[in-house]
Amino acid sequence: MSIAENIAAIRAKMEAAAQAAGRDPREIALCAATKMNDADAVRQAIAAGIDICGENRVQEMTQKLSENAYEGCPLHFIGRLQTNKVRQVVGKVSLIQSVDRMKLLEAIQAEAAKQGLRQDILLEINIGNEPAKGGFAPGEIWTVLDKIPVFPNIRVCGLMAIPPISENSTGNHKFFQEMYNLSVDITRKKSDNVSMGILSMGMSDDFADAIACGSTMIRVGTAIFGRRDYRK
Ligand SMILES: *Cc1c(COP(=O)(O)O)cnc(C)c1O
Repeated sequence: MSIAENIAAIRAKMEAAAQAAGRDPREIALCAATKMNDADAVRQAIAAGIDICGENRVQEMTQKLSENAYEGCPLHFIGRLQTNKVRQVVGKVSLIQSVDRMKLLEAIQAEAAKQGLRQDILLEINIGNEPAKGGFAPGEIWTVLDKIPVFPNIRVCGLMAIPPISENSTGNHKFFQEMYNLSVDITRKKSDNVSMGILSMGMSDDFADAIACGSTMIRVGTAIFGRRDYRK
């Protein structure tokens, strides 16, 4: 199957999942997780109608930016971000989805202020409370939101989560529901510089279930590009 055929199949599945949940399919964006795929593959995916490119690694993103790989498509950062690489990401992407700790918020604020811009971000939630994973604990999020007003160059646009690895396509249902509920609770609280328009959750194996639970953005790699070759 070609990249275009894969994307057509994903769109059909997204639409079916949205309709089954009584949602408008246009509410849900398809972010292609492009890690380990080259500029040519990225261009094919853009031509086939993905909504967003999501990149994980700063070096890889910088390389593909130099090749104009993302032309015609919004670019998001979705990977673990070291504070010493913030300078290479702020202002280069329209959204940093993976803001997972206070130190990173501080570093993004400093860099965005320096560049004189406001950086849109998502707060990443460690919804499965996994010790090895980044992200704010769900219970910690209220303290984080209270501090957002001291980051005038940051705008929180929603939440993102990478739930635990599951053996089946609905194994993370509970976590997706918890994420949705959290975003509703945060919306109700109404904080300055915080909106919950984006709920980024669902990957190749479970995006239909994520859509059923209220996802507005799925991040899909393998189902678009095929298996990644980690030996390279
Ligand atoms: C790689 C990646 C994805 C996509 O994973 P697949 O299972 O290949 O669809 C989604 N989100 C993030 C943060 C990723 O790093």
